[in-house]
Amino acid sequence: MTTPRRQRPNAHSTLRLLLFLSHRSTDSTLAILTPPPHVPAKDPTQTKTLRDNFGSDVNKRFRAIKGEVRQVVEELDVLHLGRQSAENSAPDPRDYEFLSDSEKRQRFQAWLREQVDGGVLEPAEGRAVRRGEHWTSQYVQKGYAKGVTDAGAKIRQQGSDAQVFEDLEDIFNQPVHSSKIELVYTRAYDGLEGITQEMDTQISRELSNAISQGWNPRKAAREINDRVDAIGMTRARTLSQTEIIHAHAEGTLDRFESEGFTEVEADVEHHTADDSRVCPTCASLQGNTYTLAEARGRIPIHPRCRCSWIPIVDD
Ligand SMILES: [Zn+2]
Repeated sequence: MTTPRRQRPNAHSTLRLLLFLSHRSTDSTLAILTPPPHVPAKDPTQTKTLRDNFGSDVNKRFRAIKGEVRQVVEELDVLHLGRQSAENSAPDPRDYEFLSDSEKRQRFQAWLREQVDGGVLEPAEGRAVRRGEHWTSQYVQKGYAKGVTDAGAKIRQQGSDAQVFEDLEDIFNQPVHSSKIELVYTRAYDGLEGITQEMDTQISRELSNAISQGWNPRKAAREINDRVDAIGMTRARTLSQTEIIHAHAEGTLDRFESEGFTEVEADVEHHTADDSRVCPTCASLQGNTYTLAEARGRIPIHPRCRCSWIPIVDD
């Protein structure tokens, strides 16, 4: 808090940042004529490493579940699917001692829920989640913090003052950030919880099919793991991307707000290096002015979005 703080907004000179991001701007003379306060980036948030780390953590967790499903359903055949088909051809009275179909299903689902809770979700109380004690917190916290420090850099690029934070502690010692990060933690946790619940529901359906249609154990394991892939792993991986970008955008907006800014515009992501076009979905953001309230929750616009916000300085 040693850096001088800016006055409230009316002191800002109108210096609307020119966005150097015409989607047709492969024209290099434009770059020379208009030295950008800010060069269009493929990834304005520069959070790739963070997103990748979160994504691999997610992958590792779901892959372990798939391994266990394969072992339990296919190799151990706990659902007695192999025996069931044998029973059809050559009935054996002892087979009838087994659990009823719905008991088998319930027991398996309870087992699976335990695996998913232990290996993927790690259920936590709301209060613990808000304190950042869940495993997802470490990633979104860094995304948020990067948004905060990036926002400071953007403010300084415009010639205004903004404190340089040296570490996470510096940032989260500030009440504005320590209170807002709670929402970011909670959103990531709730999202993951929702994904595991949906996965549960879909697997339950596959189990009914497996039992009623007498699938062999291998097919059953494959179909269950297909749900783990398509619902669990895929959506959780998307979540890991989305939540970092969301955290980054919210950290950025919170910083602008705490520094007295009231309006922003989008720092829109660009596609590949050789074709610097704005992502068509995100192009709708481009060139618009948003109040901070309007900007909240707008980024990410789509699952792989990497857009960010830049402040508008007015007078
Ligand atoms: Zn975007």
